[in-house]
Formats: sequence, structure tokens, C-alpha cells
Amino acid sequence: MKKAYYIHPIQLNEDTFLYYNAYSNVYLFLSAEKHNIFQATDANQLKLTDNELYHKLLEGEFLLEDDIDETKITEFFRNVKKMDTSQYHIVINTTLDCNLNCWYCYESKVEGSILTEKTIELIKKILNKGIWKSHTKS
Ligand code: SF4
Repeated sequence: MKKAYYIHPIQLNEDTFLYYNAYSNVYLFLSAEKHNIFQATDANQLKLTDNELYHKLLEGEFLLEDDIDETKITEFFRNVKKMDTSQYHIVINTTLDCNLNCWYCYESKVEGSILTEKTIELIKKILNKGIWKSHTKS
């Protein structure tokens, strides 16, 4: 058993932590005491240390079997989604100057970057031409 990789604990106040598991898309509130237990305890020991916490974490996939590779599974589903022609997704990245600081960030941030007027016009042109519409099934 191991702790999930894509877990984000956020301290909401002195007594409460919000845990988000980006792999399973599950949120969980933990008391500061349970947070400390989770942080300090090996995944295999959690069942013995706090059985209730262990099952709660297991249910939200905050604990996983050792042979589960979350990254590979996520990549697999991302590729399945990419190949899915039933929907056409357009993502407009308005800036490369993200103001978050995720520990796993893979982006090259460009401070102060914004869309230029020229780029906005090109985006509008693409959307107005409806090129994307021909890719969608009705
Ligand atoms: S660009 Fe990086 S820091 Fe910003 S949300 Fe994405 S992963 Fe997080």
C-alpha cells in the first residue's frame, strides 16, 4: 500500500485540512490530528494506527495498491480522450503567467504574458469559420 501521489492538502484553519486527490477527484476534510497522523505514518502502518482514517483514505483512493501507477493511468485516459472524436475541445490559454504554484507544474511560465490582439483575432476567425463544428457529431 502507498500514499497517492497527486494529493494536495490545504490548511483551512488551525483544526481543519482540506485534502484534494487530483487522481480520483475526491475531496476530504481531515482534522489537524488526522492530518498529522497521515503525514507521519507509513501507508502500511495506517491501518494499525487509525483504522477509521485508513478506510476513509482508501475509499477516496488517497491510499493505493503499490502496483497502481497513477501517472500511467492518467496518461492512458488522457490519450483515450484525445482520440475521442465525438467531441471537439478548444482550450484558449489566455496567459502563460499562471499565479498558482503547483508542486508538479510542468509549464514554462511567461511573466506578464497575455493574448495579443492579433492572436485574439485569429481565434475569433477560427471560431467563426466553424472549422471545429465539422469535427463534432450531432
Ligand atoms: S500552470 Fe502550473 S502552477 Fe499553474 S495551475 Fe497549471 S500546473 Fe499549477
